[in-house]
Amino acid sequence: PGVDAALAGSAPVGTALSLFSLEGRVALVTGGHRGIGLEMALALAEAGAVVYCLDLPTEPDSTWSKVQSYANELPVSESQKKGRLEYISGDVTDQKAMWTTVESIVEREGRIDICMANAGILHGAECLEYPAEDFKKVLNINVSGVLFTAQAAGRQMERLGISGSIILTASMSGTITNPNQHWVAYNTSKSAVVQMARSLACELAPKGIRVNSISPGYIFTSMTRSFLDTQPGLEAKLSAQNPMGRFGQPDELRGVTLWLASDASSFCTGSDIKVDGGQCAW
Ligand code: NDP
Repeated sequence: PGVDAALAGSAPVGTALSLFSLEGRVALVTGGHRGIGLEMALALAEAGAVVYCLDLPTEPDSTWSKVQSYANELPVSESQKKGRLEYISGDVTDQKAMWTTVESIVEREGRIDICMANAGILHGAECLEYPAEDFKKVLNINVSGVLFTAQAAGRQMERLGISGSIILTASMSGTITNPNQHWVAYNTSKSAVVQMARSLACELAPKGIRVNSISPGYIFTSMTRSFLDTQPGLEAKLSAQNPMGRFGQPDELRGVTLWLASDASSFCTGSDIKVDGGQCAW
């Protein structure tokens, strides 16, 4: 398709928009029960994917249930395969359990095409006093958990010969820092995720599997609320430091999710895509 097809006068195989279709694809999103992960999961389902949303074991809350009902009742044409959201639980820091979880998704659905390693936590403490246990916990979830998730999906993609897309959620905090934040563990972890995506991308490219990271800026979620609530006026102060003068909303990550997850980004691997209102360019 594209210009070559137009010059040759042959009928295009698909329109540019069809590159974003995820019909028939199966996805895993960790941290997918709320916040950024839930928004990513919904975007994938709307594009036609069956999406398994994994979080620590909890009961589904009302937001989740409403979004799931919406996704599972999306109108479809007769020719279009329907997407849906499935609720599963697990702990990304348990390597073997993550492998088994993805194996069971593949047993059920026959494939895994997209993996969003998105679960993460934020914890702050002054760098010279940072408690060892907290440091280990942040690194365990934000770095090891991301690797174990990518491994779990990558192993199945390789076994089944699927040209999949693995997407790691990093952060602008992997690139820049703020002098008034005590995020040494978080910033270190997110920087590691960016480099992890590059390393995995190089190893997995010969197998046809792409790996990229997304680095969001400040996005309104419960994680953001937890640190905004620590200081009155912090939101206005941080917004003023952003070229676009504001925080982002979770749904502003839908476009980059669909692009990276789909054939629209077929020649993109090892990249870190910043979605931060220009914060890293400041
Ligand atoms: P939330 O706190 O809303 O969501 C984080 C999710 O990760 C929760 O659903 C949580 O589950 C899950 N999780 C935590 N630990 C584990 C674990 N061990 N195993 C499985 N799931 C786990 O945060 P956001 O949606 O804001 O963040 C999502 C990702 O985006 C994170 O990686 C974060 O670092 C990153 N990010 C966020 C930004 C922001 O401004 N919000 C900016 C840049 C990056 P549970 O509900 O059970 O706790």
